[in-house]
Parts: sequence; C-alpha cells; structure tokens
Amino acid sequence: LVSLKGRRALITGAASGIGRATALRFAEAGADLELVDLNESGLEETKALAEEFGVSVNIHRVDLSRKIEIDALWKELEGIEPDILVNNAGVYWFRDFTEVDEGFYEKVMEINLHSVFWMCQHFVRARKDKGGVIINVSSIEAFLPFAKGLAHYDAAKLGVVALTRAIARDYGKKIRANVIVPGGIETEGVKRLKKEAIMKFDMEKIGISFNFNARLPMGRFGQPDEVARVMLFLASDLASYINGAVIPVDGGFLST
Ligand code: NAD
Repeated sequence: LVSLKGRRALITGAASGIGRATALRFAEAGADLELVDLNESGLEETKALAEEFGVSVNIHRVDLSRKIEIDALWKELEGIEPDILVNNAGVYWFRDFTEVDEGFYEKVMEINLHSVFWMCQHFVRARKDKGGVIINVSSIEAFLPFAKGLAHYDAAKLGVVALTRAIARDYGKKIRANVIVPGGIETEGVKRLKKEAIMKFDMEKIGISFNFNARLPMGRFGQPDEVARVMLFLASDLASYINGAVIPVDGGFLST
C-alpha cells in the first residue's frame, strides 16, 4: 500500500535511533537513500541493513553544525537532489540554564535549528518547481518542558516548528512540510542518557523522575520504529493533503 518506489530520500541522523529506523522503513518501501550523520561506522551499519531491501544507499559524513559542510553536501547532490528530506539529527545535551555559555548555546542551535534551516533552504531551492516532502523533527519538550536543563533545546525545537510551518505556507503548492513531535522514544541516545544519568545519580537533578513512565498514558516509552512508520506515512502519497501539520508521536504524553 505504501510505496516510495522511484523516490530518493535524504535522512539526517541516520546512524542511530529514529533516523536509522526511518531509513529502514523507507528502504522497505523502495526509496533510494542519502544518509547523513557524523558517525561514519553507524552510517555504514544502517547502509548495510537498508541495502538488504535492494535499494541504492549513499552515505555522507557531515557535521551538520557547519554550514560549509552542508553546502558541500548539496554540491555533491547536484543533479540527483532527493525529493524527500527528513531533518532528524539532533542533540539533547542537558545543562542548567544559568550555566549555558555562548559556545554551548551556539553548538546546540547550530545542530538542532540552523542545520534544519539550511538543509530546508537547499531542498526548497532544488525542489520548489518539481515538488517534494519535508519532515522535520521537533520534541514534546518544545511544547511541555518536563526535563530541567533543556531551555536551549526547547528553544531550538520550537523554532523548527515555526520554520516548517513557514515553508508549508510559502511553498505548499509543490512542497509538503510537516513536523513530527516524538515523545520518549527508546533510542540509543535516550538509553545512553538514562544510563549516564543513573550512573551519576543525576536523574533528579536533570529533572526526569524515575517515574517518567507513570506520566505516560500508555505506560511505556515508544520504539524508534513507531516514529519511523509515521515518517513513512507522511513521506508517502497517503499523506497528500497533510501540510504544515505538527504531529505528536508520544503515546499521549502531550494530552496529560
Ligand atoms: P540519537 O542520539 O539516537 O541519534 C541522533 C543522531 O544524530 C546520531 O546518530 C548523531 O550522530 C547524529 N548527530 C548528532 N549531531 C550531529 C551533527 N552535528 N552532524 C551530523 N549528525 C549529528 O537520537 P534519537 O533519539 O534518535 O533522536 C532523533 C531526533 O529525535 C532528534 O532530533 C531528537 O532531538 C528528537 N527527539 C528524540 C526523542 C527521544 O526520546 N528519543 C524525543 C523527542 C525528540
């Protein structure tokens, strides 16, 4: 039912978590892939898994915090620009608001917001006449901050929403742009965070209670593939009239 045959998708943060799960769902649906991440060995692993579905997969080691590297990536893609763009890469680095310095703030913004801006700009320039789909990834944190020490992250992730809706309005005739808002998803990143925080007995300090699960209507974290399946729907023609939407995949967290 859901086919991406003949389509080419660029996915950032594809070495891990939600990005990897999305790459695999898209490959299963027949899309050729351009996978972007900092982590080259993780990219290689995703590529090998995706190739099992018989699609073509290129990997690109790019530091998305550097515009110069983003520009170089799109130069490489000239003539074979993707028609689906998933801006998924992001970092949830905790730091108390009073301890955020300029360097830290800029890095977080560069990765979580600026890179999304520049990636979208390249994509829209290439696809504004031919058409395409953008999916940007925000977070429940942007709408209902629940973890202490993520003010910088929250600001960036709400910026992603405004940016996406502006693109949806200005280029809607040809490009559908939507936002996915993941809740707590059990990715490598989140597992690492949980482990580190528990090891440092820091869980309460960063404001996530051990009872986080109890706040969830479904009583559990989500799995990366549960987000990837929504990505697939949004990327496909099944979602042909969905534009400028902000879609939580959070098991109901925002409704509590
Ligand atoms: P993850 O840490 O498992 O994977 C993120 C990937 O982004 C990694 O492979 C990492 O190498 C890559 N990345 C980080 N900085 C980069 C850079 N400068 N250049 C290129 N690649 C870079 O994360 P995840 O949990 O899968 O999260 C994916 C997205 O979903 C993020 O934007 C995150 O903010 C968002 N999100 C996640 C959750 C969750 O619970 N997992 C909740 C809400 C939002």
